[in-house]
Amino acid sequence: MSENAPPVARSVPQRIWMDGQLVSKEDAKVSVYDHGLLYGDGCFEGIRVYGGRIFKLRSHLERLYRSADMIRLAPAHPLRELEQAVRDTVAANGLADAYIRLLLTRGVGTLGLHPFRCPRPGTIVIVDAIQIYPPELYERGMRVIVAKRPRIPVSCLDPAIKSLNYLNNILAKIEAIDADVLEAIMLNTDGFVSECTGDNIFAVKNGRISTPPEDAGILHGITRAFVMHELAPALGMRVEQRPMRLEEFYAADEVFLTGTAAEIIGVSEIGDHAIGAGNVGPITKKLEAEFKRRVAKDAPED
Ligand code: PMP
Repeated sequence: MSENAPPVARSVPQRIWMDGQLVSKEDAKVSVYDHGLLYGDGCFEGIRVYGGRIFKLRSHLERLYRSADMIRLAPAHPLRELEQAVRDTVAANGLADAYIRLLLTRGVGTLGLHPFRCPRPGTIVIVDAIQIYPPELYERGMRVIVAKRPRIPVSCLDPAIKSLNYLNNILAKIEAIDADVLEAIMLNTDGFVSECTGDNIFAVKNGRISTPPEDAGILHGITRAFVMHELAPALGMRVEQRPMRLEEFYAADEVFLTGTAAEIIGVSEIGDHAIGAGNVGPITKKLEAEFKRRVAKDAPED
C-alpha cells in the first residue's frame, strides 16, 4: 500500500469510532500512556470496502481476535459488537470504496511494561481512502528485492500475530525503498522464503501454483486464503503450500503478491533476476481478473 492516500471527496466529515463512540478526526486522540504507543502492544487489521460491502469482514475479525488472544489481550468488545461498530463506521463515513483500519491497543497504563496494569484495552475503527500501488505496476509487473534482514522467527514473535509492532517489516521496507522498489521478499532464519513486508507471495511453475506454508513464519493473509481456496479452484487450479527457497522464485514462470491493499500484483523482477518473460504472466492475470470480478459484484463478507 502506498503511504500517501489521496484526498477523498467525502459527502460527510470523517468520523472515527473510538471505544464505543463516533468522534471527529480532530477528537480521535490516543493517550501518550497507551501501551499501543509506548510498546507497540496491540494488534490491528486492514480491511477493504468494495461497493459498500466489507470484504471478508468475518475472517478479518476472527484474525484480529486470534492476534489479541496470542498476546493475551482481552478485547473490550465482543466480536459481534465490533462487527456492528465497523458497519456503523463505514455507514457514517459515506464511502462506498474504502480502507478500514481496525486497532486494539493494550490501553492506558503505567510507563512500565506490565501489560495487565492497563485496565481497559483501546478500540479504534478508522475508515479512509485507499491508495494501492501505482496502476502501471499492475500492467508491467512490480520490481522487488530480497531483504537482507530475515523475518522475525516464529519462536520470537509469530508473524501470524498482526501486532502493532511492525518494525521488522518496516526495516525491510526501508531496504526496498533504498533500492528504489516498493516491496521486499523476506527469508526466515532457516533461509526459506516467508513473505514480503506487507504482502504474501506465490510462484507459478509449469502451471502449478505454490506458496510458503504458515510455519514459514507468515501472516495468514486473507487474500492469500481467498486465492488458495476460492480463486484458484474456480479456475481449475490448486495451490500447494510447501517450504520454498529463493531459487524457486528466481526460476518461476510467474511470481505474484497478495494483500488487502495490493489485491493481486505480478512481480516482474526480483533483484537482478527477471521473472519469466519479465512481465505479468497469464495465470496471475487470470487470478487478478477473477478477483476483480468477484469484488465488483457482491464482494463476499464471510
Ligand atoms: N503479510 C504481511 C506482513 C502483511 O502485513 C499483510 C497485510 N498487509 C499481508 C501479508 C497480506 O495479508 P492480507 O491479505 O490479510 O491483507
